[in-house]
Amino acid sequence: MNIHEYQSKQLLADYGVTVPDGHPAFSVDEAVEAAETLGEAPWVVKAQIHAGGRGKAGGIKIAESQEQVREYADELLGSQLVTHQTGPEGQTVRRLYIEEGVDIANELYMSLIVDRDREGIVLMASSEGGVDIEQVADETPEKIHKRLADPQLGLAEFQARQMAFDLGLEGGSVFEAVETMRNLYDLFTDLDCSLAEINPLVVTGDGEVVALDGKINFDGNGLFRHPDIRELRDESEEDEAELEAKRHGLSYVNLDGNIGCMVNGAGLAMSTMDIIKHYGGQPANFLDVGGGADTETVATAFKIITQDPEVQGIFINIFGGIMKCDVIANGVVNAVEEVGLEVPLVVRLAGTNVEKGRAILEETELDIIPADSMADGAQQIIDVVGIDE
Ligand code: GDP
Ligand code: MN
Repeated sequence: MNIHEYQSKQLLADYGVTVPDGHPAFSVDEAVEAAETLGEAPWVVKAQIHAGGRGKAGGIKIAESQEQVREYADELLGSQLVTHQTGPEGQTVRRLYIEEGVDIANELYMSLIVDRDREGIVLMASSEGGVDIEQVADETPEKIHKRLADPQLGLAEFQARQMAFDLGLEGGSVFEAVETMRNLYDLFTDLDCSLAEINPLVVTGDGEVVALDGKINFDGNGLFRHPDIRELRDESEEDEAELEAKRHGLSYVNLDGNIGCMVNGAGLAMSTMDIIKHYGGQPANFLDVGGGADTETVATAFKIITQDPEVQGIFINIFGGIMKCDVIANGVVNAVEEVGLEVPLVVRLAGTNVEKGRAILEETELDIIPADSMADGAQQIIDVVGIDE
């Protein structure tokens, strides 16, 4: 789960990381009020969307007067901000963050991630902050420094200190940077994060170390322990179909291909995607209806798949275990009757009561293409849909 920059900064502040003073604003008047409360110019007017690259896209503005705060807030609120992370349609700006301006001497990059290869939490930092870290990684990988935290001991003081020296810091900034790293580590582990990134982490003219941006992602599987973090969710930033699926207990991830998949069990769902790719097709989604799916779940899943305009064919691949095949077949028939069917549908059933299930599909007037096996089903749906270039 993602949260907004201003929410991340509140958490960073709670953990002792220095952030500039700021207030969120949902309207132009609130933005101007926020600036008034903050005191002297300049103020920074920042678009709050769940995507980075806002600076380059015009989503971060420095205002020298309250009139300018009004002007920028008016321009940004309700606009579509297109950054390299949003996709071409962009994201609607519904919230702003108004912050006091900071005197920047040096922009650094700092993050913590779960590194699966190294099986631990890795601290990454670079003296090349403020820009795309991917670009630094491509062009000057030697400028990205890493430290693996010991899972038992955490991020050690000496590791943080070495990192501060790697970044070229001096004097009091070393101490402040070390504190920042240790605090960020506590936040990361306490709140079950999968990513915590500060880009840029700046050194001010006075040598103070301040987080100017904040991006925190939480591990969805840890959210049950953090009701206060769940409150921070902004559903307007999330994929509508994925939210609808979540409300019905379905695991759904929208993908780029044209073959909609409905499968039970995450393992079978992944092998179904693999076999579609194996025969040259592209899955439009991952969708696991779960082991105990009933008629209603199947209908909801069917609606979600057919709402995707990219879908040109559907492959239902279900193993009847706890759920018997005849029940599933009835579910599919009901769903098709309710939702309608405008694209070819291939159904492969296996498991308990498979004969009964197949008989139900054959008896209907509906145009359902039966498949004998996973491979047969994948090939048939690709044959009718054609290969998506
Ligand atoms: P992002 O582009 O979405 O990552 O947004 P950031 O919050 O990182 O802002 C982008 C850039 O705007 C930063 O790298 C800074 O150079 C600049 N910026 C952000 N806040 C301030 C500020 O308070 N003062 C000044 N002078 N520049 C700022
Ligand atoms: Mn940034």
